[in-house]
Amino acid sequence: MEKYVMANFKMNKTDLEVEEYLNTFIPLVKDKNVKVILGVPFTSLKTAVQKAKKTDIMISAQNMNENEKGSFTGEVSAEMICGTGAECVIIGHSERRSLYGETNESVNKKILKALKSGLTSIFCVGETLYERKNQLTAEVIKKQVTDGLKSIYANELKNIIIAYEPVWAIGTGVVPMDVEIIETMKLIRSVLASIYDETIASEVVLAYGGSVNDTNCKEISKLEGVDGVLVGGASLDPKKFAKIVCAFETKK
Ligand code: PEP
Repeated sequence: MEKYVMANFKMNKTDLEVEEYLNTFIPLVKDKNVKVILGVPFTSLKTAVQKAKKTDIMISAQNMNENEKGSFTGEVSAEMICGTGAECVIIGHSERRSLYGETNESVNKKILKALKSGLTSIFCVGETLYERKNQLTAEVIKKQVTDGLKSIYANELKNIIIAYEPVWAIGTGVVPMDVEIIETMKLIRSVLASIYDETIASEVVLAYGGSVNDTNCKEISKLEGVDGVLVGGASLDPKKFAKIVCAFETKK
């Protein structure tokens, strides 16, 4: 299976900077057998789509409102994202959950809306340090996955990528032990198997996110059950991010 390497620029880069980034990045990942998705700010979706037009790179938003349209000042709808040509949207990132009050319920509504609009969701889950230290990881992840996927049919899972991002690993430089990543990936697959079945669970793309960089990416790429990565800080430098993409290349 082709691996997924995804970037989350967060609130970084002007439109011009995104354009310059792509000028450098695109030639570096040309013909690599990797699925690349770039989560850019709303303000650069259209520019990024235009720049990536003749490549296989997919462009993603970083959030989306679950409503169709209306009086939601400052919000962006699925239709608006689709209108830029972007194909994906990050949903339920821990920063959205902790800073903007997103809940498992609102995350579920957003995923349902994204599916209806034809957008692929990069659905983020992950425990806090407190939860990990208090042996609550399994319970929290199980609830996030189960609630987030409520009312979603098996045949829609091909349009959902699940990113396991322990909150304590995001932007901290701390990466879980290999065994912790492998165990949590297994746990997510077992939750999926209990909702759907084993075969369906085995086909869902599961990515790891949290302090992935151009030094640790090779080791992470080899971990059992890891189909890709979601990268924040280290995705901001096109050369570093291209190195991460190359680490996930599989033979054709
Ligand atoms: C993220 O925010 O999705 C993320 C993984 O960030 P970082 O790579 O900087 O830890």
